[in-house]
Amino acid sequence: MGNEKKNIEIEAIGEFGLIDELTSDFVLRNDSSIKGVGDDSAVMSSKEGEHKLMSSDMLVEGVHFNLSYMPLKSLGFKAVSVNVSDIYSMNGMPEQITVSLGVSSKFPVEALKELYAGIHAACEYYSVDLVGGDTTSSYSGLIISISVIGSVAKNKITYRSGAKENDLLIVSGDVGSSYLGLQILEREKGVFNANPNIQPKLDGYDELIKKQIQPTARMDVISMFQEMSFVPTSMIDVSDGLASEVMHLSKSSDCSFSVYSDKLPISEKSALTAEELGIDPFVCALNGGEDYELLFTASQKDFDKFKNNPNFSIIGFATDKSNANLLIDKNETAVTLNAQGWRHF
Ligand code: ADP
Ligand code: MG
Repeated sequence: MGNEKKNIEIEAIGEFGLIDELTSDFVLRNDSSIKGVGDDSAVMSSKEGEHKLMSSDMLVEGVHFNLSYMPLKSLGFKAVSVNVSDIYSMNGMPEQITVSLGVSSKFPVEALKELYAGIHAACEYYSVDLVGGDTTSSYSGLIISISVIGSVAKNKITYRSGAKENDLLIVSGDVGSSYLGLQILEREKGVFNANPNIQPKLDGYDELIKKQIQPTARMDVISMFQEMSFVPTSMIDVSDGLASEVMHLSKSSDCSFSVYSDKLPISEKSALTAEELGIDPFVCALNGGEDYELLFTASQKDFDKFKNNPNFSIIGFATDKSNANLLIDKNETAVTLNAQGWRHF
């Protein structure tokens, strides 16, 4: 007794705490490394007027996807989407990907070809080139690790860190539907497991299920920004849940945010489904995750570009960091915003 070494459990510090713990001692040694750990993509210098971007994401069977309701082709498409989304988050365009696989030998070649059909479709959709990867065996299910390289004009690069007091907080599309799609899939899987003769009832939930199974990253939003001659002051993609991403922008930008719950974009189908499942639609919108929408800030002078724009919702604004991050409801009651995020651990 008394001489035991204390082990820190990953659960105690969470995913972001773990990343900090592992990487805080690393310094950037090369002039060409402009931004390392801490944003959606790494940033490296490139030719005149441009930066290179790089990002990686890993999807693990049983943690990020469940093959019992995830068609392999959709999984391939989704794996690329979650990666290119981190390049769009920097206001850049993806160019190349590498795909590394851990596969159990029980997987037939046909199954992997299905996966690659989805990767192929995504390469076409996002106009990126598959340029390499690695393949190894795995004893613990399928693992897909993708890296993506892209580029962005120096004067358009958007970090998590540029938000200023009074900036508008804006999100594309709607939030919460991916999480609700997952809840429907889980419910029907439960019914099927209990009685395999009952067909899953997925009709009418297509919009939610599509968002969960085969989300598309918002390449179109980056094109819209270009057409509007707009550059966000900060940006992040919504992978872990809107509330969690708001806190990331807050931390990186050294400001706080006030978010208005009645401004959150919740689709009609999401609201109805949340009611049917007996869950709070606001909780789905704030903590659901996997929306792959873009959350960004804009200076007040750009208000007209977004005020009646059906592709975007202005959900709040940035405040001085002496305030807390707040969630304000329609009765003006404010509570501190807290983020559950995705708990992988
Ligand atoms: P995202 O959700 O946008 O993919 P993450 O939360 O996964 O971002 O990662 C946050 C930051 O931490 C990124 O800069 C990422 O490159 C870095 N990061 C994540 N895991 C590791 C790791 N194991 N080693 C080094 N850096 C990491
Ligand atoms: Mg991201």
